[in-house]
Amino acid sequence: MRGLMQDFKLSVASILNHCELNHANVPVVSLTPEGKTFRGNYGLCLKRAKQLAQALTALGVEPGDRVATLGWNTHRHLECWYAATGMGAIIHTVNPRLFADQITYIINHAEDKVLLFDITFAPIIENIASALTSTKVFVAMTDEAHCPNIGGLEVLAYESLIAEQSGDYSWPDVEDENAAVGLCYTSGTTGNPKGVLYSHRSTVLHTYAACMADTLAVSATDTMLPVVPMFHANAWGVPYATSVTGAKLVLNGPHFDGDTLLKLLNDERITITAAVPTVWLGLLQHLEKTGAKLPHLKRVTIGGSAAPRSMIEAFETKYDVQVNHAWGMTELSPLGSVGSVNHALKDAPHDTVLDVKAKQGRSIYGVEMKIVDEAGNELPRDGKSYGNLLVRGPWIAGEYFKSEGGSILDKDGWFDTGDVAIIDPLGFLQITDRAKDVIKSGGEWSSSIDLENAAVGHPAVAEAAVIGVAHPKWDERPLLVIVKKDGMTVSKADILEFLTPKVAKWWLPDDVAFVDDIPHTATGKIQKLRLREQFKDYVLPTAVAEVAS
Ligand code: AMP
Repeated sequence: MRGLMQDFKLSVASILNHCELNHANVPVVSLTPEGKTFRGNYGLCLKRAKQLAQALTALGVEPGDRVATLGWNTHRHLECWYAATGMGAIIHTVNPRLFADQITYIINHAEDKVLLFDITFAPIIENIASALTSTKVFVAMTDEAHCPNIGGLEVLAYESLIAEQSGDYSWPDVEDENAAVGLCYTSGTTGNPKGVLYSHRSTVLHTYAACMADTLAVSATDTMLPVVPMFHANAWGVPYATSVTGAKLVLNGPHFDGDTLLKLLNDERITITAAVPTVWLGLLQHLEKTGAKLPHLKRVTIGGSAAPRSMIEAFETKYDVQVNHAWGMTELSPLGSVGSVNHALKDAPHDTVLDVKAKQGRSIYGVEMKIVDEAGNELPRDGKSYGNLLVRGPWIAGEYFKSEGGSILDKDGWFDTGDVAIIDPLGFLQITDRAKDVIKSGGEWSSSIDLENAAVGHPAVAEAAVIGVAHPKWDERPLLVIVKKDGMTVSKADILEFLTPKVAKWWLPDDVAFVDDIPHTATGKIQKLRLREQFKDYVLPTAVAEVAS
C-alpha cells in the first residue's frame, strides 16, 4: 500500500523560495576581490540572483546546462549558485587552485556554457580561454570599472549584465527531484579529475542533515563564516544550510590570513565557522602572537584533513570554542561524519573527550558506514580492527559524470571511500590513512595520521607529514617530515623523545626530516604523492645500518 502524502519534489528552488519569504532581511556580508565590503541581505542576493537567471536565460543557458564559476566565497558567487540552481541549470564550481591544464580539462569535460570568474583569476582565464571548447560566455564577477581587459576576449561585467534585467522572475518548478543541480570535480592524485553530479534531492537531504544539532547545528540566531571555499565540496553545504535556517552569512572573499579571519570573527560576531586544519593553524598562530581572544565564536568545524588533537585542545581550552571534527568527501556532498559529543561522553573528563574528538566523529543519519577487510568481509566496530571504509546513502555519488566505467558501487550499493578506518563501539570513526598512503612495515601497519597528529602536538612543530620510505628489512619504514614554527629550534632526538610515550614502539619514525614547506593539494591536504616523490631516494639511517650489518 502506498502512503498518501503529497508527491512534493525536493528542489533547491524550494530552499530559495523559503529563504526569500522568511529570511529576506537577514544580513549577508561579503569581502570582495576589489577590496570593498558588501553589506546586503538574502532578499537582495536573491533579487540579484533572479536578475542573473534572466541574464543567463538571455545568453542561451537552458535547464541542464552547466554554469561554471572560478570564484572566492563572495555574495556574487552565492548569487551564481542561487541563479544557476534555481533556474534548473547546474552550478559547476571549479577550483582555481588547480593547475591551468586541470582547469581546462574540467571545464571542457563538463562542457560549461558560461564561466563566471573573480577578477583575481583573470590571468587564469587569459591563459586557458583559447583552449576552452564549449565555453562561449565569460563574465567577470565585478563592475564595469574593475572589469579586466583580456586580450581578444569579450568579457561581460557582472554588475552591468544583471542591471539590464528586472529580477521579476519565479524559479521554475522542478519536475524531477533527481535532476542534476551541482557539479564538483574531485582532485584525485592520479588520473583525471572526476565529476560528482549532485541532484536536487541529494542537495536538499544533505541540507537538512547539515543543519542538525549534532552536525553543523545552524540556527536562525547564528552567524556563520564558511571559510571553506564554495569550490571545495560545496563549502560543506553551508550556503544552503544558512539559507534554509536564516543564519547570518559572512563570506571572507579572497582572504584566508589570520588577521582578516580574526577581524571577521570578532567584528561580525561569528558564532560558527568551518575550514580545513591549515586555515586554523594560521589563525591559532596569529592568536598566539597577538594574544587576541574569540569572544563570540561558539563552534568550529574542522575537516578535509585530520584535525590534530593539539589543535582541538587549543580551541577548546584556550579560547573556549567547541570543535566538531568532521569527515567527508566531494562524493558525499560532502558530509559523512561529525564528532559531536554524545551521552557516553558528556560527563567524561575533558582529556577523554579530546581523545575522542581527535577521531572523525559518528556517521550522520543518512550515511551508512562499514569497514571491510581485503576480501570485503565486514569488520567489527571494536575500536581495533581497521579496514577499507565503505559508505552508502542518498547524498553519496553512484557514478561519476560522463565516466565510462559506470557505477562506482559494489553489488550491494556501497561506495569504497579509499580511506582506511577504525570504528569504535560508540560508532566513532577514526581515519587512519588514505588506502594508498598506508605504511606497511614488516607486515605490521602504522597510521600516518596518528603519527602526524602526535608530532604537531610538539610546541615547535607547525606541520608534520609521515610517509613510508623503502627499507631493506621491513619493506617500508615511516619518515617524519616536519616544518618548524617560525624561530623555533628542535632536534630529531627531541621529536623522537616527545613521540615515544604517545605511539606504539614500532610506529616511531626511523628518521625526521626538517623542511621549509610541505606540499599541499588544491584543497589544502598534504600531498603525500609529491612528498613521496621528493623523498624517493631518501636513505634512512636504519637502512644504512641494516645494509652494513
Ligand atoms: P575531498 O573530496 O577533496 O574533500 O577529499 C576527501 C578525503 O579527504 C577523504 O576521503 C579523506 O581521505 C580526507 N578527509 C576528509 N576529512 C578528513 C578528516 N577529518 N580526517 C582525515 N581525513 C579526512
